[in-house]
Amino acid sequence: MHGIPEGSVREVATDSRTVQQGRGLLFFAIPGARHNGHDYVAELYRTRGVRRFVISEIRPEFHDLEQATFILVPSTLDALQHLAAYHRQRFSIPVVGITGSNGKTIVKEWLAAVLSAKYHTHHSPASFNSQLGVPLSILGLSPHYEVGVYEAGISQPGEMARLAAVIRPTLGIITNLGAAHQEGFSSLRQKGEEKFQLFAHAKTLVYCADQPLVHELAHELAQKHGVELKCWSLKGNPADLAVELQGDLNPEFPGQTRVSSPQFTFQWKGTNHSGSLPGTDAPTVENTLHTLLASLLLGLEPEVAVRELARLQPIPMRLERLQGLEGQPLINDTYNCDLESLQIALDFLCRQAPSTPKTLILSDILQSGLPSTELYTRVAELVATHRVDHLIGIGEAISANAGLFAPPTRNAPSRTGCTPELSVQFYPDTETFLKVMDPVALSHSAVLVKGSRPFRLERVSHRLEGRIHRTVLEVNLKAVEHNLNYFRGLLKPGVKLLVLLKAFAYGNGSAELAAFLQYHRIDYIGVAFADEGVELRRAGVQVPILVLNPAPDSYASLIAHRLEPELFSLAVAYDFARVAHEAGCKGYPVHIKLDTGMHRVGLQLDDIRLLQALLADSPSIRVASIFTHLAVADDPSQDPFTLAQLGEFKTMADSICQSLPYRPMLHVLNSAGIERFPEYQFDMVRLGIGLHGVSANPGVQLQPVATLKSFVAQVKTLQPGDTVGYGRRGVVAEPTTIATIPIGYADGYNRHLGNGQGKVLINGQLCPTIGSICMDTCMVNVGKMGINVGDSVTIFGEKPTIFDMAEWLNTIPYEVLTSISPRVNRIYFTD
Ligand SMILES: *Cc1c(COP(=O)(O)O)cnc(C)c1O
Repeated sequence: MHGIPEGSVREVATDSRTVQQGRGLLFFAIPGARHNGHDYVAELYRTRGVRRFVISEIRPEFHDLEQATFILVPSTLDALQHLAAYHRQRFSIPVVGITGSNGKTIVKEWLAAVLSAKYHTHHSPASFNSQLGVPLSILGLSPHYEVGVYEAGISQPGEMARLAAVIRPTLGIITNLGAAHQEGFSSLRQKGEEKFQLFAHAKTLVYCADQPLVHELAHELAQKHGVELKCWSLKGNPADLAVELQGDLNPEFPGQTRVSSPQFTFQWKGTNHSGSLPGTDAPTVENTLHTLLASLLLGLEPEVAVRELARLQPIPMRLERLQGLEGQPLINDTYNCDLESLQIALDFLCRQAPSTPKTLILSDILQSGLPSTELYTRVAELVATHRVDHLIGIGEAISANAGLFAPPTRNAPSRTGCTPELSVQFYPDTETFLKVMDPVALSHSAVLVKGSRPFRLERVSHRLEGRIHRTVLEVNLKAVEHNLNYFRGLLKPGVKLLVLLKAFAYGNGSAELAAFLQYHRIDYIGVAFADEGVELRRAGVQVPILVLNPAPDSYASLIAHRLEPELFSLAVAYDFARVAHEAGCKGYPVHIKLDTGMHRVGLQLDDIRLLQALLADSPSIRVASIFTHLAVADDPSQDPFTLAQLGEFKTMADSICQSLPYRPMLHVLNSAGIERFPEYQFDMVRLGIGLHGVSANPGVQLQPVATLKSFVAQVKTLQPGDTVGYGRRGVVAEPTTIATIPIGYADGYNRHLGNGQGKVLINGQLCPTIGSICMDTCMVNVGKMGINVGDSVTIFGEKPTIFDMAEWLNTIPYEVLTSISPRVNRIYFTD
């Protein structure tokens, strides 16, 4: 160990890409399957100023890093887990630990959302449930929180005991136990026993009494470790929470709890209650009841729990359930692919189609870290245990391992136990398969389309789909992270970051982005209206939220949801102070907006004296910050105006501060300001469009976050004289092919993009629109290019970009992003 003292550690990192600056940071160099953290130590030292490292190997180049402190340990992952375990035991709050085969992430997200009606709730982001993700989640726990909710996932025997030591749940939830024989476990029971290790030191376990193996294991746990059992039942089994679903079981799903009406009643502590479910399929019912029982046990009143449950949105899942040509289940899961998600998707397929033949269309699994033979042996086992009838493998790696899927012959029994009925086909790539694919032949079985991103298997599911309106906005969270880190890197130490999530987060979905940003520890969120803030609180967001345009009738609701108003006029300030006083508030945080030249909203110089008097007389409020907004931060030719605004702001803010017995935060800069006026960061900056990939510096490469995608719904060949669309405005001059795309002005595809003004990308080629844009569709001219129904269409993304769209529409990227209609599904991925 050498180096210089550097103050206390405030942050821990294991992924070098997420590190922007090293002060207060401790880097754990973890050797992984693809990256070894030790490879990045010298770079982090030189370019990010990281000075403290936990390592398990000593490299020659480390000797040159003179100011670095190294802690050498036998295993850096162990060390991280030990640190997290130590951090965990400093808190004596209730902590929920969730495991099971399916539904962990949803139950975690839902429970956190429901609990935050009453408690400050911390939970792990996305599906951070691994040996690495769990300790990183736990390290985010701080004294502010009153309850923690975490999920644990395992793939090997022995892993759960380590996660149990880190999470130390006081309340456990076992969601269910899925299909047997995978992931190095010899039986379903063995796997169940391993999972139950999470609960060995818990006080209470929540489970479903209708699952026999779970019930049995729960009783063993109670006997061995004295854990108190709490269960729910839908089938009249003895239970603490007896639930009845209203309405009939759906005949389409015999034996499944798919109900036709989302109402239910339950008995809790001798009284009857009723509520509604966020969905009616079996997994949703199960996830809801786990959430309900756990939240009741954690002290939520039944009325509150029921009210919050009814508000839950099914999380935008990667698993999309669509309908095939004949109405059979078609499951699209083409955003990522690993063994665990394959298992989840196969379980889902089996539940959706218990008695129909099953087809699995599967691409190569990339970056699994396993040797290819071992990987596909495990895939073959999953295929066998889920009784798949027909496997279509796409990609060179899976094709090379075709032998592993071969049915057994009399002389050579199959190593993997695939059923004799399994029929298999392999194709080197998606294009080859699309050429020969027969959607009608596949319409007699339930189909799971499951693939890694680069294979773009959604083209396959589009063609298999019966009803066609699938335009989606893909939101790339990795790109969000990249852009966030770029702007963070521009901040001086200690400067706080507020991120604007107004207008549905610039069109990209506020609740999802807020959860992601909360995980990345931003300091503040800004929204335009009270409703937007309420929605974020309901989604479990705990970060302080600034509301820019609070309407007078929303003040009480602001206070009820811990939302902090912008006071932009004396009238607003007086009214809000009065409402806060009536609500019994002391020092409720508010933000003073100054008008320094934008002339939109804000107090002016003349208002300051009265404001000072009001603040002196109003103990019900406290100025958390004073701020202003720049009108031309992105325009170098107008910098004198910006500097004048900044000067005016200083004068006005100083005079308010002088009359206050405390010091509020000051902030001015928006995205362009952060890039262009680093010396005016004050205490905080406000990041907006920059997060979505728009930079004011021409040299800076940010990543596009949103890709608006559709596909070709129909193809037609037209002759000279033919016309296209309403008003016959698209006139065909020479023989050509046109494609119809299911996106129109009601989706936000502006009508001004018609008649060739806009272009879309199909098979690598930009194709102009032809004729007017319709409400739900538009037509494009593809000329002589070969094209198929189902081909993917990019409306904007890499190409064309939102900047191209903005230019065609004579507007700015802000308007392009915020115009995408809510009826377009948002899909989030991190690949
Ligand atoms: C929208 C907004 C921002 C963010 O502006 P961008 O240009 O998107 O970075 C910052 N502050 C206020 C007050 C805003 O209304």
